Amino acid sequence: MPFEGLAEKLSNSFKKLRSKGKLSESDVKEAMREVRLALLEADVNYKVAKELTGRITERAVGEEVMESLTPAQMVIKIVNEELTALMGGTGERLKSPAHPPAIILLCGLQGAGKTTHAAKLAYMLKSQGHRPLLAACDVYRPAAIKQLQVMGEKAGAPVFERGTQDPVETAKEAVKHAKDYGHDYLLIDTAGRLQIDEELMDELRRMKEAVNPTDILLTVDAMIGQESVNVAKTFDELLDITGVILTKLDGDTRGGAALSIKAVTGKPIKFAGSGEKLDGLEAFHPDRMASRILGMGDVLSLIEEAEQRLDEKAAERTAQRMMQNKLDLNDMLEQFRQVKKMGPIKGILQKLPGVGNKLDDVDIDDRIMDRTAAIILSMTPYERAHPEELNASRKRRIAAGCGQKVEDVNRLLNQFRQTQKLMKQFGGKKGRKLMRGMGG
Ligand code: GDP
Repeated sequence: MPFEGLAEKLSNSFKKLRSKGKLSESDVKEAMREVRLALLEADVNYKVAKELTGRITERAVGEEVMESLTPAQMVIKIVNEELTALMGGTGERLKSPAHPPAIILLCGLQGAGKTTHAAKLAYMLKSQGHRPLLAACDVYRPAAIKQLQVMGEKAGAPVFERGTQDPVETAKEAVKHAKDYGHDYLLIDTAGRLQIDEELMDELRRMKEAVNPTDILLTVDAMIGQESVNVAKTFDELLDITGVILTKLDGDTRGGAALSIKAVTGKPIKFAGSGEKLDGLEAFHPDRMASRILGMGDVLSLIEEAEQRLDEKAAERTAQRMMQNKLDLNDMLEQFRQVKKMGPIKGILQKLPGVGNKLDDVDIDDRIMDRTAAIILSMTPYERAHPEELNASRKRRIAAGCGQKVEDVNRLLNQFRQTQKLMKQFGGKKGRKLMRGMGG
C-alpha cells in the first residue's frame, strides 16, 4: 500500500510536536523540515514538497489556534487540509456530455495498465447501471484486441473491433455503433509505446479530433513514481488530458505520484486502480488519501479531542449560567450527561474562579448521579425549566416515572434549591465582578 513510510514519518514528527504543548515558530519550522524530507523520500516532486511545506508553515504560524484544538492538532489539521487540496480537493468524476454516449479516450505508455483499466472502468460503469461499450483501437500489438475481448467478456461489456484497420477509423465507427445500440459510455483503448514518440502522439491527436472525447484519461503506473509524473506532464501538453487513472497502487509503497500529479500537471487523478482483478478500481478521493497518509489514528484522535473540548465549552457555559443565577434542572441534566466523559460536577465547579483544585479530594458517587438524572428525565422540559412549579401530583407522577420515591424527588429539589441559593450569592455584585474577570 502507498504511503506506508510517509505515514510513519509524519506520525513521528507530530508526536514530537504534541509533547511540546505550546509551539514556537521554530518548532513548526523544524517539524516542516522533517515533513519535507519525508515527502522527498516518498518520491514527491521536489518543488511540490517545498511549496506544500511552505504553505503549511505560513498557515500554522499565522493562523489563530482554534479553541477546540491543541497547537499540535492545529498543525495536523492544516497538513490534512493542504494534502487534500494538493491532490485535488473534493475529487473529480467523469464528465457527462449533453448527449450520450460519453466518449472516454484511454491513453498511456505500454504496460501502464490501459487495457486492464478500460475493462475495470467498464465493469464499474456496468455495476452502476450503465451500458458501456469497449472499442479496441490498439491495433499494433496482435494480442491487444484479444486481451480486451477476454477482459470485456468478464466485465460483461461488448467489445467493438475492426481488426488492424486504421485505429482512427475504428474509433469513429465505434462512436456510431455506440449511438446505434444505445450505449451511454464508449471506452476507447488505444495503442501504447514504451516511450512517448511523435507517431503515437500524432495518432492520438487525430483520434481526439475525430471523436471529440468527453474525457481523455491517461493511465499512469504509480510504481514508477516521478517518472509517471513526467509522462503525465508530456501527455497533457500534447493532448490536454482531462484526468488520470493511477494504476498499480498495490505495488507502490511510496505514493509520490499520487501526491504530485495534480500539482505538477494541474489535472486531477480521477481513478485509482490496484490489482489485476476487475473490481480493483476506485474513484480517487483526495481527502481519504490524506487521512491514509496522516494515519487514521491521528485524524481520529483529532476529532475525539475536538469533541471533548466542545464538552468542556458546554461546561463553561453552564458555569456561566450558574453565575448569572439562571441555572435550572436542564443544566443539571446536561452536567450529568457530561459526568462520564469529564468527571462529576466537580469539573464544572472547578471552572468557577477561586474553586480550582480545592475540590480535588471530594468524591462524588456516580450511581447517585444516575438516579438523580433519572428523576430529571421523568420531568417534562417545562418542569425542568420551572422546578418551582412542581406540586404534589406532578411529583408523584415523576417518582412513578423513574421508579423512585416522592422523597427522592424532594431531596433532589432541595439540593437544587441549595445550589441556586449558593449561586445567588455569587450572582450578586461580587459574582458579576468575577464574571467580568472571566470575560463573561
Ligand atoms: P497496457 O499495455 O497499458 O494496456 O497494460 P495492461 O493493461 O496490459 O497491463 C500490463 C500488466 O500490468 C498486465 O500484466 C496487467 O495484469 C498488470 N496490471 C494492470 N493494472 C494493474 C494493477 O493495478 N495492479 C497490478 N498489480 N497489476 C496490474
